[in-house]
Amino acid sequence: MKATLLEGVTVKEICEGFEYSELEGKGLYGWSGKLTIQPEYQRNYLYSENDGEKEKAVIESVLKGYPIGLLYFNKVGDRYEVLDGQQRITSLGRYLKNLFSVKDLTGNSHYFKSIDETDKQKILDTKLTIYICEGTETEIKEWFKTINIVGIPLNKQEISNSIYSGSFVTLAKAEFSNSQNNRLNVWRAYVKGNVKRQEILRTALEWVAKNSYDVAVDEYMSFHRYDTNIDELKNYFEQVITWINETFTKTYDEMCGLEWGRLYEEYHEENFDKEKLAAELEKLYYDGYVTNKNGIFEYVLKFLATGDKDTKLLHVRFFGPNEKRRAYDEQTKEAKNLDRSNCPDCVLEKRRNAKKIWKFSEMEADHVTAWSKGGATDLKNCQMLCKYHNRLKGNF
Ligand SMILES: [Zn+2]
Repeated sequence: MKATLLEGVTVKEICEGFEYSELEGKGLYGWSGKLTIQPEYQRNYLYSENDGEKEKAVIESVLKGYPIGLLYFNKVGDRYEVLDGQQRITSLGRYLKNLFSVKDLTGNSHYFKSIDETDKQKILDTKLTIYICEGTETEIKEWFKTINIVGIPLNKQEISNSIYSGSFVTLAKAEFSNSQNNRLNVWRAYVKGNVKRQEILRTALEWVAKNSYDVAVDEYMSFHRYDTNIDELKNYFEQVITWINETFTKTYDEMCGLEWGRLYEEYHEENFDKEKLAAELEKLYYDGYVTNKNGIFEYVLKFLATGDKDTKLLHVRFFGPNEKRRAYDEQTKEAKNLDRSNCPDCVLEKRRNAKKIWKFSEMEADHVTAWSKGGATDLKNCQMLCKYHNRLKGNF
């Protein structure tokens, strides 16, 4: 079983000699007769259902320059059968044969014959990405099952790389998917992922596309597909890395894999007091009650920039069962001696529960001094309140 990437075949070529059977409701042949679009075992044409929503979408994508995805053909002798892509090819063929129309931005419908010459050429010249597979039917079926269901499916970036193959991807891979690149050691402190599986490249693209331009990675790749340099991608990535290096005086393992692109966009214009930042981090890093160490970096950036203590980022540990039980026992013993409720807030309220002794299961632990105000999660700072009063008070 062999699969070869065939690039450069245009919509015009694939739709040459396209035949559609109205009777059977399927595309039959294309590519000047050497392509069987719908071998017997395949489904009927479904894209014309729902008022042709999907076939129209194929044409709209092509007109906008968006990719329509990979096509897989099976080579049988000197002929080809479509393994995957028959619906898309049939949409293209049917449109070129004026069998349906597509609405433009102003809502007017246009058949292929009535669109302007530039759009016509754009559709006809669109290049398709085709994989030619060769092997026995069993092999091909097995392989198809593998790429689709089991095995290691292509990840997002691997798919994008094949869809947008061209000079940009080649250069980008040489930089970001190259295990010999000596910058890799620096990047690895902050960026997670497998170089060979294009994961560093993915991050670099996400940073520049999503965080800097607020567009999808695929859109960015489509736009730059035939660029002959990757300066913007490379510079932005290094800018983020430099900012991290300069902002944090110490590197922690937990810094690897954070959303640095987003944090850079949010905070790179702040003038941080680096010593203060380092001290705050150090304190949180060694605070046993902070269970989410990954969150401390954003917490400190946000706190120093805005004064906001976003404790959600830290997952501060709650009191454990032993601490609660000890606090409960002490409080209850004292309450019984003084003939009052073991919930201090019920006592203060002086209402009907002022003398009620709550059961352990009816109470919850509360930080006397909120953690965010410096209160620790230890016994001295633990008090049990009835559920009503604890919820009234809220945490932190
Ligand atoms: Zn109470």
